[in-house]
Amino acid sequence: MSGAVMQLAWGAATDRGRKRRENEDSYVARPPVFFVADGMGGHEAGAHASAAAISAIGALAGRPSVSLQDLEVAFAAAVDGVRAIRSERAAPGTTITGVAVSEQGGGGYWLVMNIGDSRTYLRSSGRTTQVSVDHSAVQALIDSGAIGPEEAATHPERSVITRAVGAGSEAQPDFWMLPALRGDRLLACSDGLTKELDAERIDRALAEERDPQAAADRLVAEALAHGGRDNITVVVVDAVGVAADDDDPTLPTGIHAVDDDTRPRSELLEGA
Ligand code: MG
Repeated sequence: MSGAVMQLAWGAATDRGRKRRENEDSYVARPPVFFVADGMGGHEAGAHASAAAISAIGALAGRPSVSLQDLEVAFAAAVDGVRAIRSERAAPGTTITGVAVSEQGGGGYWLVMNIGDSRTYLRSSGRTTQVSVDHSAVQALIDSGAIGPEEAATHPERSVITRAVGAGSEAQPDFWMLPALRGDRLLACSDGLTKELDAERIDRALAEERDPQAAADRLVAEALAHGGRDNITVVVVDAVGVAADDDDPTLPTGIHAVDDDTRPRSELLEGA
């Protein structure tokens, strides 16, 4: 991609996994939007929900830049799309997470959005951090101090999410606006990855695989090898070049994307 505020390279991979009969995840990896959705509802309703959400977000593909307002409008369309799905069972729903490229005052930014327990990570300057904060029962327990982060992977409520698109939820997503640096790598993934691979392994794959498609393929392969108990979807996008990245980018006034209540809690990962 060229002519925009960032030059990008990207890759994506998805797999049904070893246990599930259907793949209910969906993704879009078309500049400037890179998102993953993990549907729920069973009997194909989950697949329809994630596809409807990704279709609404994917409508932003081809733009030179996506603003916060653009993404909010697309999110509202995603909610409408998911609600329109007929299902004989409980209302279908989906997570969404990922990143859009945004130009602000001539600088390049990562505009991250999240609702649910899929995740977006940033690898920058040799460190991987989790940008999104899970909307999950276990995250609430961690926040309250009731359990430690190390208990999350085995907690009986580890699959319970507290916000979603559809599924009877009126919830809104969280947003983050992060200045982009040349060499940044973003990872959006469903929980089929993060429930198989710990943070260290994810970081190692991101660090060792130069090509974003190779990184996506390796992460999915490792999650499958570890058990593949859920659908696995991975989108990796690299900032190969960023306009004006020698400047110290500051958000212009009027940008209110960073909600103080939802600042990324840096889950700092060890560098490989
Ligand atoms: Mg899942």
